Amino acid sequence: MKTYISHFRRARLSGAALLLSLGACAVNPATGGRMFSLVSEGQEIDIGQQAMAQVDAGMGLYDGPALQAYVDSVGQAMAAVSERPELPWTFKVVDDPVINAFALPGGPVYLARGIMAHFNTEAEMASVLGHEIGHITARHSVEQISRAQLMQIGLVASVVLVPELRPFGDVLGGGLGILFLKFGRDDESQSDQLGFRYMTRLGYDPQGAVDMFEILERQRDASGGTVPEWQSTHPDPGNRVLAAEQRIASSQIEGGVVRRGEYLRHIDGMMFGKDPAQGFFVEGRFVHPDLRLQFRFPEGWDTQNAPTSVLAQSPEGDAVMQLTLGEGDTPEEAADAFFDQQGIERLSARSRTVNGLRAVQGTFRVTTQQGTLDGQALFVRHGELVFRFMGYTPTERMGTYAVTFEQALESFAPMNEERWINLEPKHLEIIQVPAEMTAERFFQRFPSTVSLETVRRINGWDEGHVIAAGSLVKRVIGEGVPGDE
Ligand SMILES: [Zn+2]
Repeated sequence: MKTYISHFRRARLSGAALLLSLGACAVNPATGGRMFSLVSEGQEIDIGQQAMAQVDAGMGLYDGPALQAYVDSVGQAMAAVSERPELPWTFKVVDDPVINAFALPGGPVYLARGIMAHFNTEAEMASVLGHEIGHITARHSVEQISRAQLMQIGLVASVVLVPELRPFGDVLGGGLGILFLKFGRDDESQSDQLGFRYMTRLGYDPQGAVDMFEILERQRDASGGTVPEWQSTHPDPGNRVLAAEQRIASSQIEGGVVRRGEYLRHIDGMMFGKDPAQGFFVEGRFVHPDLRLQFRFPEGWDTQNAPTSVLAQSPEGDAVMQLTLGEGDTPEEAADAFFDQQGIERLSARSRTVNGLRAVQGTFRVTTQQGTLDGQALFVRHGELVFRFMGYTPTERMGTYAVTFEQALESFAPMNEERWINLEPKHLEIIQVPAEMTAERFFQRFPSTVSLETVRRINGWDEGHVIAAGSLVKRVIGEGVPGDE
């Protein structure tokens, strides 16, 4: 799983100082093995707490106090039986529709509401919480920071001075100014092992872990081989199913706490899929109902709607466009705030109107260790806010992209279409089926606004599954974002 390190640069700088004084070898608290570490427990907690503040503000927490309290209570019980019960543990649900979970150093654990929608029991959720707790107790992210520090120490001087203009590879992965660290296969298997330890200590049925990996396999097959976020940095789910089954067999643990009904009742009414209020791509445009704006990115570019920006990258990966909030109350203030940053050179700027909106448009050059980038930027006031819309590319590629950038910038416009402004999000509804029935029959009697395949997947039903009378099952209601399954 991925780990967010928002104050990575700060950690790196303090790590450089540390290296001079100690090449620390510490004992790993969860495994008892020796590990190489430049980061003390106090620093580990500090880094995690700062990153937590950024995740909470940047990604946003899901608005469901009862659900948050439930997830935290399950997580706290599991952390209490781990090797590091004294850490400042927190367990939260982020308002993100993807199948994902992640841990920050020293205590913060997050589940996305997208993975919550795919669990069917508390035991399944516990298996993922246990895995995340394992990353923290085994200090995996700390090891990652230490390794990254070692690699980066010689490169501190090359840090790009302008945070908005990080190297291309970073742009689509971030959006929060946060670096995702990937764990290795060994770390992932170790976290699976530790997760198994914690869930069985609390009496959960370890079959929940097997079921969870099967959910991931189904999701991978359904999406034509592309893996969910949570899985993308992990070993193949098929292997994890086998490993989990072997673990159960050798432990001779049979059955245990599952808590299906309790789990499902907690996610009854939870939002499902994309939240239309956060903006979405439709008919070749990006529309944002709350901000009442729209624009077009160049055709064929990879796009991402991140919490604090909307991003696009050219198919060749050599150009980026980005919409974010500008600084100040006017286009002029926003332009000055941007162009006056260290490392940015203003090449030109002029006032203009774009689709009736007051704006400043300009060109700029940024010098980085890797060479110079050229860009076009539009600072435009709309409603109470000033937006910064820009595109940039290596200087030698500007000839190729100048017209493309210009066309995109000029597409920024107000959006007042009722059909997009009043779009309701999708929600989960838990139904108690009155009689035994097939999935197809259930889909007819209790229709969903997603496909039968999606209903099967979120309920964990195989082909030919028959639902027993009285079972609690999920369906999806509400219109939601067009094309969002
Ligand atoms: Zn992991």
